[in-house]
Amino acid sequence: MKKTKKLLSALMALILCCMCFMPLPLNAVKAEASCSHNRSFFVTRPADGCIPGNGYYECSVCGEHIETEIAGSAHTFKWVVDQHATQFTAGRKHQVCEKCGLVQNMNTKIPVNKQTKGFSDSISQAIADFVGVLKYIVEQIRDFFVNTF
Ligand SMILES: [Zn+2]
Ligand SMILES: [Zn+2]
Repeated sequence: MKKTKKLLSALMALILCCMCFMPLPLNAVKAEASCSHNRSFFVTRPADGCIPGNGYYECSVCGEHIETEIAGSAHTFKWVVDQHATQFTAGRKHQVCEKCGLVQNMNTKIPVNKQTKGFSDSISQAIADFVGVLKYIVEQIRDFFVNTF
């Protein structure tokens, strides 16, 4: 009687063991391995310009689920000047994407401004002003003579 009980519990343990450990993983592995996958693609969040979106592939047979990123379009970078170059010191600039704010090329050097563009600009402006004043004076003198004589 005692022996039968022992045998029975051993048998029960074996059955339980088979039920809880063996069948499930084996079946799962078999299904994964033998499935030829009938995958469909689902969009969770579409890409918004250069901001990537999300989606996933799902197999309608075994339920395999693969998360993936949807690539966005190219960024629209513009230069932002951190520090303007002068005649004596170099400047710094970086690029920022107008859409997503991605930053690249930090601390790009702006070469020293050797062409004294500002200076020559002001000279030509001064000359233009001077010519304008001369013309005005000539016109005034001409008007004076025309009106007087
Ligand atoms: Zn599958
Ligand atoms: Zn961007």
